[in-house]
Amino acid sequence: MERLPKAWKTVLKLEPGWKVQLRKPHPCGNDWWVVLRLGADLRLQCTKCGRRVLLPRRKVAQRLKQAVPPTKEEEDET
Ligand SMILES: [Zn+2]
Repeated sequence: MERLPKAWKTVLKLEPGWKVQLRKPHPCGNDWWVVLRLGADLRLQCTKCGRRVLLPRRKVAQRLKQAVPPTKEEEDET
């Protein structure tokens, strides 16, 4: 079985509300995204322009710089 890189483990523990920073910035210049939905593909929303994209987990793992869990206040909003 293929050995999983560390970033892949991080991707596996992601849940809606997490913020991720990706290596490849959005055309709007922002590189932070909010995780909206999880599945075979992750639905991410750009924190600057609000554009939503679908990215395969593997792509997210390849581009992941860091992942931040939601703060308490943000959890209460949902
Ligand atoms: Zn954007």
